[in-house]
Amino acid sequence: MKEVFKPLEPGKVKMYTCGPTVYDYAHIGNFRAFLFEDLLKRWLVYRGFKVTHVMNLTDVDDKTIKGSQKEQVPLKQYTDFYVKAFFEDIKALNIEPADVYPRATEHIPEMVALIKTLMAKGYAYRGEDGSIYYAICKFPDYGKLSKIILAETELGRGRPGWHIECSAMSMKYLGETFDIHCGGVDNMFPHHENEIAQSEAATGKKFVNYWLHNEYLLVEGKKMAKRFGNFYTLRDLVAKGYDPIAIRYLLMSTHYRQQFNFTFEGLESAKGAVDRLRNFVRRLHETEGKDSKGKVAVLTAKLEACFGGSLDDDLDIGIALASLFDFVREINNLLDDNRVSKMEASDVGGLMMRIDEVLGVIGKVEVEEALPADIDALVQKREEARKAKNWKEADAIRAQLKATGIVLEDTAQGVRWHKEKA
Ligand code: AMP
Ligand code: ZN
Repeated sequence: MKEVFKPLEPGKVKMYTCGPTVYDYAHIGNFRAFLFEDLLKRWLVYRGFKVTHVMNLTDVDDKTIKGSQKEQVPLKQYTDFYVKAFFEDIKALNIEPADVYPRATEHIPEMVALIKTLMAKGYAYRGEDGSIYYAICKFPDYGKLSKIILAETELGRGRPGWHIECSAMSMKYLGETFDIHCGGVDNMFPHHENEIAQSEAATGKKFVNYWLHNEYLLVEGKKMAKRFGNFYTLRDLVAKGYDPIAIRYLLMSTHYRQQFNFTFEGLESAKGAVDRLRNFVRRLHETEGKDSKGKVAVLTAKLEACFGGSLDDDLDIGIALASLFDFVREINNLLDDNRVSKMEASDVGGLMMRIDEVLGVIGKVEVEEALPADIDALVQKREEARKAKNWKEADAIRAQLKATGIVLEDTAQGVRWHKEKA
């Protein structure tokens, strides 16, 4: 259901996103969730909101304990390794860091306090086995998020395990009621349902105003998950030579409420899309054409309206990207005809930079510098070979240049080159 977003405090957004369990490297299904959240946050910032973002690190649970026992190292040493790996991965994916990354092990007193409140209010009790249980039947709203019907589940009694972690830590950093809570759809029940039950029973206030859940990344129609063994980590793909930014593009470019299959063809076309945007920006720096007589300004205004309007509409990234590539195509046509002035190109470049604050895929592109004389001679030689339709020699020179990190592009204005990103 779509609703108009109204923050609790004008101009500010308080946002909590469920983070990784740090028992292993995160897989790219997990990163689909974190990239959707990154896009949401970047979009809110683009629209002028000051966002406070908290993401927890689950550093104590069965899996982390089991892992540390298996490796015979202290739990903290074990989880620190994967926390560090997680931060390296999000940096490579150009995910904006959260403001706070609370760790479960460092918030036990807050969880104890919340449990004590729930016990004092009669929502929680100690069972015969010594564990403390939450009495779901005492919280009439239970099921309001996931629409689960208790009588139809075997879950007569809910046991808040790691759920209490997110309740306690989100409220500590964001207040008893905050704006946005995100996570994958698998977190909706029981995790988020339990967070609501615990938090609202303890405070008597509404816990979260807007819940946003991303759909799964699939592999051959099945959820990508550790337990199915059908997963790739970011590191697996980087080892195969893929640019993390192409992976970012791929995971971000499907609407968050739609499932999609991971494929290598998809990743290749994501790479192509990123290259296209980078080449476009590079080309803008080089233009020396005539004025477009207002055409560029019209196209720029249209893109701003379409890109903004579609992301405002429940983060409709598909339409936003389609409008961006239409724009690139139309400006490229004008560039082919030498009908973009330096001033116009600079306006377009400015818009591309603003848009990239949201997409985070273009980055700083290297602008042409003078080529070393020997390489320049090769480029000239290739041009001559091309003119003489000696394609074999032209291709051989292209390959030779590629080996030195120089990539050639043939355009209507002749050959252009750029350095390949390391
Ligand atoms: P976890 O470390 O298992 O708690 O998962 C971290 C985040 O990744 C949660 O928001 C999950 O819902 C999400 N997630 C896990 N698997 C997938 C998947 N295949 N596609 C999209 N999101 C996922
Ligand atoms: Zn959580």
